[in-house]
Amino acid sequence: MDSLLLSKNDLPKFMTELIKKNKVFAPVESNGTIIYEQITKPSEMNLDFCKSEYPPKALILNQTETLFKFTPGTKAKIESVDIDEKKIIFGIRPCDAKSIAILEHAFKGDYKDPYFLKKRENTVLVGLSCTKPEINCFCTSFDDTPASSKYLDILLTDIGDNYYVEVTNDKGKLLTKSMSQLFKPAKDSDIKKKKEVEKKAVDIISRHQKTNGIADKLDKIFEHPFWKDIAFKCVGCGTCTYLCPTCHCFDIQDESTLTKGARVRVWDTCMNPEYTLHASGYNPRPARTNRVRNRIYHKYNYYPKNFDVIACVGCGRCIDLCPVNIDIIDVVTRAGEVKP
Ligand code: SF4
Ligand code: SF4
Repeated sequence: MDSLLLSKNDLPKFMTELIKKNKVFAPVESNGTIIYEQITKPSEMNLDFCKSEYPPKALILNQTETLFKFTPGTKAKIESVDIDEKKIIFGIRPCDAKSIAILEHAFKGDYKDPYFLKKRENTVLVGLSCTKPEINCFCTSFDDTPASSKYLDILLTDIGDNYYVEVTNDKGKLLTKSMSQLFKPAKDSDIKKKKEVEKKAVDIISRHQKTNGIADKLDKIFEHPFWKDIAFKCVGCGTCTYLCPTCHCFDIQDESTLTKGARVRVWDTCMNPEYTLHASGYNPRPARTNRVRNRIYHKYNYYPKNFDVIACVGCGRCIDLCPVNIDIIDVVTRAGEVKP
């Protein structure tokens, strides 16, 4: 790993160079909230935020994505779409970068999803350490920190007049080498400053989730009345899943007129009763209790069993934005405590 230093005064130059040669998506303020949008100049960015409400996973697993176009009829024709576009996501938080690594497990298993994988391969993640975690952030419960470079190609950490820059792999090296005049090697004192910034951010995090042994515990309480109690408040809006950076369920629909059409992939949610509705009319998850339970099991039981990782990064979005205050930290903590 290379440790470099970028003067804050040089950030606009760095961004201008990136924008000249690449499609760059960065945090931008829109209607009082932060979203990741393509920028045309550095001044469009807003780096004073904790996390975007809408997760940057949407730049790789698009909310709506055309898989191919077709002309219906007896002389039907299929037209493929370009999935080769290269992009940089600048300012992504370490937790959101981890979520993309978590998503990869689902898309590179027995069936390899070319759309997701090509976009992932063509995307460079230039992260920005989080220095102001919010009340519902709990990334440290998963042995991560707000300044972890583990899932990023490059990580910038604000250490005062400079950014401490960690270049973790060849993708990151390619970017920094092309602008080497802007970087200088970091000194031990800069590494120390980064560690101090990281510790300060870790110390701000006040909420923690106990996850030890949770997958095994969930095996024992599948039928427990506790789930009915948790689901009682839920209104089934799906906000928790749509805004979760690790949720990845989708539906595929053909949309067409008499002369043209497209096969489209759209985000779906397991909180929707139709999600598991069979064509026969049978629904294996007919009640909200089944659906609320599924969300927790998918993250804390099925994913660890299949991929050895919990499918939650502790971003807190589902807690911040649930209209009835269902809190995944409390749910999992209580699940760990109920008697089987
Ligand atoms: S389950 Fe909630 S806290 Fe965990 S990654 Fe998803 S939105 Fe974030
Ligand atoms: S956001 Fe809250 S109310 Fe909406 S589906 Fe999720 S848990 Fe239920």
